[in-house]
Amino acid sequence: MKITFLGTGTSTGVPEIGCQCKVCTSPDKRDWRLRTSVLVETEGKAILLDCGPDFRWQMIRNKTYHLDAVLISHEHYDHVGGLDDLRPFCRYHGVDIFAEEDVVEAIKTRIPYVFREHKYPGVPNLELHDVTPGQPFTAAGIPVIPIRVMHGKLPILGYRIGNMAYLTDVKTLPDEEYAKLKGLDVLIITALRKEYHPTHETVSEALDNIKLIRPKEAYLIHMGHSIGLHAEVEKELPQHVHLAYDELSFEID
Ligand SMILES: [Zn+2]
Ligand SMILES: [Zn+2]
Ligand SMILES: [Zn+2]
Repeated sequence: MKITFLGTGTSTGVPEIGCQCKVCTSPDKRDWRLRTSVLVETEGKAILLDCGPDFRWQMIRNKTYHLDAVLISHEHYDHVGGLDDLRPFCRYHGVDIFAEEDVVEAIKTRIPYVFREHKYPGVPNLELHDVTPGQPFTAAGIPVIPIRVMHGKLPILGYRIGNMAYLTDVKTLPDEEYAKLKGLDVLIITALRKEYHPTHETVSEALDNIKLIRPKEAYLIHMGHSIGLHAEVEKELPQHVHLAYDELSFEID
């Protein structure tokens, strides 16, 4: 399985528009973070995790020519803003999109012209599929386990594929979800910044969850500029925990 971090930034991206802080003006490219999205390639299939507003550039930058399915964590713009840009992938067949029922409804409201009976020519052909929390499913034939994640008070979804789990916009996890996260080789999990936030884990809250889940390796995502410079934060983390950065890519068994 190949994992590629297409974007590792929070909703504003880094640099933030208009910001002159040391992270937003850093010459280190690892401090430049497009909105969070991960590409998983396994058994000849390419599965996209979230499709934010930087999706178009992420596909071009990563030279991705083929997608088999898209899994959506929740309806916030930084996770769905790129859905219209799936058009080039819809030339020959529809693209399967998986999301929880309320998120499917939100997508239809957000881009209604895509779902009208008489479609404007050229709109993307998106095949929406409801994910039922607690019920494993297959996307492009690949088994997926949905994981309930609490984004503050908002229930959203993370996804486990093989021994990799993607949990974005996490504040807390319900107790019963930990059993679904046993034996992970790679855990991908939010760490917005060091200071408290009501709907996202801090770095120390992410480290607490990593201790409970005990993956072989953990990669932090959805970082904001106030987390600090990549090179400095990476040094403060335990050996098996890393700050992910855009274009980081590796294979696991
Ligand atoms: Zn987000
Ligand atoms: Zn900044
Ligand atoms: Zn969110």
